[in-house]
Amino acid sequence: MALRIFARFFGCICLLVILDCGLLYPSRAQRPRAEYRVLAVYSDKVEHDHVDFAHQAVRFFSTAARKDHFSITATPNWDDLNTTNLTKYDLVLWLNDSPHTARQRKAFEEYMEHGGGWLGFHVAAYTESETDWPWFTSFLGSTAFSNNSWPPLPATLNVDDASHPIARGIPQAFLSPSNEWYVWAPSPRLHAGVQVLLTLSPSNYPLGLKDTILSGDVPVVWTNTAYRMLYVNMGHGDQIFSSGVQNQLFENAILWLAPASFKPLR
Ligand code: ZN
Repeated sequence: MALRIFARFFGCICLLVILDCGLLYPSRAQRPRAEYRVLAVYSDKVEHDHVDFAHQAVRFFSTAARKDHFSITATPNWDDLNTTNLTKYDLVLWLNDSPHTARQRKAFEEYMEHGGGWLGFHVAAYTESETDWPWFTSFLGSTAFSNNSWPPLPATLNVDDASHPIARGIPQAFLSPSNEWYVWAPSPRLHAGVQVLLTLSPSNYPLGLKDTILSGDVPVVWTNTAYRMLYVNMGHGDQIFSSGVQNQLFENAILWLAPASFKPLR
């Protein structure tokens, strides 16, 4: 009997040690998995052009998944951003929206702070102000939406770092299909941890008719190197996937964002 009580007591201590060490929530880098799993979250009841993009993106990345040997699950339910569900995925895509509730935001924060991955498009990073969601503003590179071009137009993009994996097979400059372009303030380039990978070419200026970008440094793809994340400004309308060059960039992005244990897939 004494031995049984000791064993029960010792078992409790072990459990407490496991909980205390955070071993029940290991980083994704530590958790072996046979498959690179991607979760794509989107909204169906937002601006029509953003819904069009999301539906096309689900089709595009589903095809890429079969080719590049990852799995993708698409959901219009943002409550799928919960702690339990997120443990099943190595990368989360926000196609045309962002979390709506404090609970969803908190679950996402914990996911990213414990090694999760994120690829956000266009309006997914839109915030009314820098203080709307301070954690996200910091995560994005201490920047927030400032203004935009209108109507959607094609634009020439410059590759900032041709040696970066997402630039593989991408020319130094290329014409990106029609998109609504966002300007950010302050420029994410000013954040020490940010690496800008693509920038709007100054040759586009003035860009827009009703709302015009006249000048300035406008990053369109960047990563905050403190996280496994990438933001891509493209994502407005049904023309985004009409460029083979840009499609290659998107495919590169998914593969680059894979956790280290899946990198041999490339
Ligand atoms: Zn838009």
